Amino acid sequence: MKPPPFDYHAPHDLDEALAVLAGTGGDGKVLAGGQSLIPLMNMRLAAPAHLVDINRLAGLATVEAGADGVRVGALARHAEVERSERVAQVQPLLRSALGHVAHPVIRNRGTVVGSLAHADPSAELPAVLAVLGGSVRVARHGAPPRDVPAGEFFLGPLEPALAPGELAVSAFFPAVPPRTGTAFVEVARRHGDYAMAGVAAVVTLDDDQRIAAALVACVSAGPVPVVLDLTAACGRRPAASTDWAAVAAEVRDRVDPDGDIHATAGYRRHLTGVLARRALRIAAAEAAGEYG
Ligand code: FAD
Repeated sequence: MKPPPFDYHAPHDLDEALAVLAGTGGDGKVLAGGQSLIPLMNMRLAAPAHLVDINRLAGLATVEAGADGVRVGALARHAEVERSERVAQVQPLLRSALGHVAHPVIRNRGTVVGSLAHADPSAELPAVLAVLGGSVRVARHGAPPRDVPAGEFFLGPLEPALAPGELAVSAFFPAVPPRTGTAFVEVARRHGDYAMAGVAAVVTLDDDQRIAAALVACVSAGPVPVVLDLTAACGRRPAASTDWAAVAAEVRDRVDPDGDIHATAGYRRHLTGVLARRALRIAAAEAAGEYG
């Protein structure tokens, strides 16, 4: 199918892009990698009157990995972030999750920030941003940029906290704290498909190797990434004597996924519990130094 008619804009800098977006009367969409937006338009599930292509904007294809975390600009492609050794050192959860995002060809074109702005609860990167407590930097015409915490950015399926005329300029993924391990696991019908269920886990140990903090974010488990703090459920025990099955049962009981043609709600709930157990064990072992 072909998309409905639209006006195409190709601004050359951020100011111009924001001015064009502001002038679309709320009926404009940002075009980044186009890996979600164009299929939606071709299927006539989206029909914006204006497309504002940001691919000519200078300074947005940045990936900055520092001691405090990774800042990814709006034109950094999935593949670039996935391949960066420095990113993998500072925040390994990004590389683990990116390996599950679609296929290499799509990752060559699709952007990390576009994936967040798309706000699909079945997508991997919103869960990663949510479990890490990251943020999205949002700009609009005539106003200073603002940082929106992950917990406030995902409002519902395909509903980011972006007002008409706003553009996400970058996203920030905090670094892994000391004695912390991370893991991302998912089950999809075919490799590269959206996850039927998935779990991102972050586990931090204290000086005595006991669980000091355990968080998960569940994919395809609700209208937005479902973040659960499991620290109390872990009972501040060493990883080896933590009852991971009981902790995972708590995850299973707290999520409320929908069923669809890919999986029933019950199957998704079961899978989420199984994956939570797996992800938490891997993250705890990594925190304890048992994984390279
Ligand atoms: P676009 O398609 O350009 O935009 C997506 C949405 O975000 C649009 O509404 C757009 O207006 C908005 N947007 C984009 N950038 C900005 C910005 N800077 N500021 C404000 N709004 C913005 N994704 C997954 O997460 N997991 C998968 O397993 C997966 N599998 C896929 C399989 C196939 C076959 C295909 C075609 C896609 C798949 N995707 C998957 C989707 C895709 O990988 C991402 O959603 C996509 O890369 C998002 O980035 P983009 O740059 O292409 O965004």
